[in-house]
Amino acid sequence: MPSSSDLFDAARRVIPGGVNSPVRAFSSVGGTPPFIDRAEGAWLFDVDGNRYVDYVGSWGPMILGHAHPDVVKAVQAQAARSLSFGAPCELEIRLAEKICELVPSIEAVRMVNSGTEAAMTALRLARGHTGRDKVIKFAGNYHGHVDALLVKPGSGSLTLGLPASPGIPAGVTADTLTAEYNDLDSVAAIFEANPEDVACVMVEPVAGNMNCVPPVDGFLEGLRELCDRYGALLVFDEVMTGFRVSLGGAQGHFGVTPDVTALGKIVGGGMPVGAVGGPRAVMDGLAPTGAIYQAGTLSGNPLGMAAGLATLTAISAEGFHDRVADTTRRLCEGLEAAARRHGVPLTTQQAGAMFGIFFTDQRPITRFEHVAACNAEAFKAFFHAMLRRGVYLAPSAFEAGFVSAAHGAVELDATLEAADAAFAELAA
Ligand code: PMP
Repeated sequence: MPSSSDLFDAARRVIPGGVNSPVRAFSSVGGTPPFIDRAEGAWLFDVDGNRYVDYVGSWGPMILGHAHPDVVKAVQAQAARSLSFGAPCELEIRLAEKICELVPSIEAVRMVNSGTEAAMTALRLARGHTGRDKVIKFAGNYHGHVDALLVKPGSGSLTLGLPASPGIPAGVTADTLTAEYNDLDSVAAIFEANPEDVACVMVEPVAGNMNCVPPVDGFLEGLRELCDRYGALLVFDEVMTGFRVSLGGAQGHFGVTPDVTALGKIVGGGMPVGAVGGPRAVMDGLAPTGAIYQAGTLSGNPLGMAAGLATLTAISAEGFHDRVADTTRRLCEGLEAAARRHGVPLTTQQAGAMFGIFFTDQRPITRFEHVAACNAEAFKAFFHAMLRRGVYLAPSAFEAGFVSAAHGAVELDATLEAADAAFAELAA
């Protein structure tokens, strides 16, 4: 088998940067990304014969662990009946019903093919529904590579130091207004200056693209109130948090109800699926019932629906989210304890089965500037020290980490043992 290094060379000849999504190239941490041969449960196996405890989980979807038998079986069974029809099929209804059951704010749902598409559709829906153009988003929140939303985004773009991107006309972002996450005053000020023009506030209810930053008390409630006062829609981008922070997503966990929800990742169980949902009265604005246009050749394709349905069914098991949240808590406590033993300043934060590690004394981390002030060199060194010891963390200090149901005592012990040695190396 060719090595990761050989494959990375070959990849860079035919794929920009050798990757199909920028952060995979290890640009911010340096080095050659391992090329993955297969994955099972909590483990990734690379082409070089190494194995890693995986805390990326394909950036969120794999909450059951890799190659979960129920999901594999559902996909295999469907594949034999064709990969796509481009015509209605029953599986679309079953997944839509399951989403409506688990997320009470959603009465109707439109399937798309990615989180980006979900955010893009949510924005168009909010604009079409209200007849207004402006959108308020937050610095450090990422909603996919949607032109109008790629203003002060998080994760990949933060890592690359690109606050926006060439190729986006200024006119397209002219109606995008940026507020500070966890700062209601900054939102209120924008509303006061634009009382009748804001279509929606779009927010990651737990910010996961500036590491992992939960909302401070009253923040989401305050957004709800401001949106109601000014006639704007509240859009939760739950692409990352949906079915992860709790079975009902961040909205279930924090008890704040948005008008529109964007979903992705877990909803497709590892297949390219996204979804937009909300009350019937809003959702029926979409074509063909309404005039707001939206479409997709592969949207609702049966393979994605089968994987999503098998995943949502398995995670609906009694106590599932308590168990993954508990594993995540033990991981965070173990990492902090190991860091303390070696005198390395470290803060961890958690929301359900997502977590963040911050190389800083500051706690809690609530603002984007707290995240930006963390020790990037320490993160880089820790990332590589862990990778060498068989632990695969997100290759960026601005990404949340993800725990799956397949992470058990064996994986946790291996991780904390690696962390102890990694922190010792950092301290030396
Ligand atoms: N919204 C959020 C909150 C995300 O975290 C992401 C991806 N990490 C997206 C949207 C975009 O999703 P996708 O990469 O599937 O287009």
